[in-house]
Amino acid sequence: MCYARLKACSTLANTKRDEVDSLTDRLYYTDSFLHEFEARVLTVAGASGGVSVVLDRSAFYPTSGGQVFDTGWLEVVADANRSVRLRVRDVAEDEQSGDVLHIVEADDGDGLSLQAGDVVRGTIDAGRRRDHVQQHSGQHVLSAAFEKLYDLATVSFHMGDESCTIDLATETISPKQLQAAERLANEVIAEDRPVEIRFATPDEARTMGVRKIPAAVREKLRLIDIRDFDLNACGGTHVGSTGQIGSILLRKTEKVKQGVRVEFVCGQRAVGTARHDFETLTEAATLFSTHIWEVPQQIRKSQDEIKAAQKAQHRLLEEVAELQAERLLQSAPERGGQKLVVQYFADLDLNFIKMLAQKLTKAGQAVSLLACGGAQPSLVFAQTSGLPNDMGALMKQTVQALGTRGGGNRDMAQGGAPDGDRAESAIVEAAKLVAR
Ligand SMILES: [Zn+2]
Repeated sequence: MCYARLKACSTLANTKRDEVDSLTDRLYYTDSFLHEFEARVLTVAGASGGVSVVLDRSAFYPTSGGQVFDTGWLEVVADANRSVRLRVRDVAEDEQSGDVLHIVEADDGDGLSLQAGDVVRGTIDAGRRRDHVQQHSGQHVLSAAFEKLYDLATVSFHMGDESCTIDLATETISPKQLQAAERLANEVIAEDRPVEIRFATPDEARTMGVRKIPAAVREKLRLIDIRDFDLNACGGTHVGSTGQIGSILLRKTEKVKQGVRVEFVCGQRAVGTARHDFETLTEAATLFSTHIWEVPQQIRKSQDEIKAAQKAQHRLLEEVAELQAERLLQSAPERGGQKLVVQYFADLDLNFIKMLAQKLTKAGQAVSLLACGGAQPSLVFAQTSGLPNDMGALMKQTVQALGTRGGGNRDMAQGGAPDGDRAESAIVEAAKLVAR
């Protein structure tokens, strides 16, 4: 199952405790539902943004193996002269010593109101722990389901604030496989199978069918045993029986370097996510005046309608451009068989004036200096191929004066204008420079 996490958390969880002389007795090892405990403060040290406290025993889970830390409170007990209650906002593992570091908020004084030797009561945020227990245990069940059904190993696990992911060692996974794994995982949850913590030596574990034994562990392994379904080395916090996971909902998948990433949520998160999805779909369905299941069909219909409308609009604009070109050429001054069209369109856009410039310069010998206002004030200069001007050079000169950008070739150029008024005056100025 969760090999990478297994590597990560069981080696941390076991080797640190067995091979390194860690000071902290980890109470969550044997009881994931212990939310209150008493302990003695061993050391207190300044840490970035707070104070780092080491206790002789702790039920706080430190971030490791994909599972994130607990939060809660540390309160000094049995000292009538002092009232110290500090928020635990992070819990980490000291990489060197293996100690559990409780990062508490510095209080208003020197931040060291806790002292070595103090007896404290630790209280864990039970809701947050329950959520983590559900996500983490759900991951065991889900990873085992993928392994049993399709022999797909889990190579890593990540627990986020909103959703969790596992990475499966495979190139692809089909929607059918996802559904089957989700179904099996939820069946195992509904069966409410006992989940037990067991300890075994690596040799014992091999005979018990634990799939992967972390190489670094020499003493006891901590095993999480989901009865007749999964046996896995792990240092995290878990449910007492699978029913406590509540449910598993698979979400999106994405291709990653080491395989396929599967997003999932368990327990209340699954309900919350489904609720959010439902509200989103309901809003979309209301906009379409339809049932939520009809939303994709309605979107497809709308997309087809938009495409058809765009095509119709293009055809109409072509016709309008055609007519405009005729009208403008009729009224434009002519010299030496060459027409000069200088026209500003306050409400039309760049696409239209480009279309119009093409029509004007194809219909006869013409120079066309067009501008538009709107959201993106623009200029389009064009001439019938073979006429002696250089539209690119004229545009460069114009945009330089406007402080904008633009360019093009001898016969066609476009550029920007700061606003409609300046676009309009720019074409009048440019007209004075057109060779006649
Ligand atoms: Zn675990």
